[in-house]
Amino acid sequence: MEVEVNNAVEFPDSDQKPSTFCKYCLNPENKQDNPGLRCEICNGFVHLTCLRRPGTPGDFACDVFFEFVCVECSDNKEEVFERKRFQWVNVLLLTLHHLSIQSYGISNNGFFHYKTHICSFIDRNWVLLFGTHL
Ligand SMILES: [Zn+2]
Ligand SMILES: [Zn+2]
Repeated sequence: MEVEVNNAVEFPDSDQKPSTFCKYCLNPENKQDNPGLRCEICNGFVHLTCLRRPGTPGDFACDVFFEFVCVECSDNKEEVFERKRFQWVNVLLLTLHHLSIQSYGISNNGFFHYKTHICSFIDRNWVLLFGTHL
């Protein structure tokens, strides 16, 4: 029996290997350059860039912190995104990643001014990141 070693979640109830090809475009997963989401139901993988809607809710770059249901598994044939409980480290990673992509040029050799850039970013996007119930 072959054992595939990767850092994906384990699927104890399933004999099927998780597909690492995008359900929509059929190209392979690429964690570095083209990350994506996994459907909670069929476990199919979909690139962020292949989602039916243009980007994830909030439009953060490489924001993969969602519970996702693909078009085929969704009741109303629309993709479902549910914000996962955010951990601070993810917020910071996401923010830094977003800043480094969106605001190229304002950083000082890759370092961001904590108050100016990070806090104001989180401030502006608080509702998107944490939801309204906090
Ligand atoms: Zn794709
Ligand atoms: Zn699915």
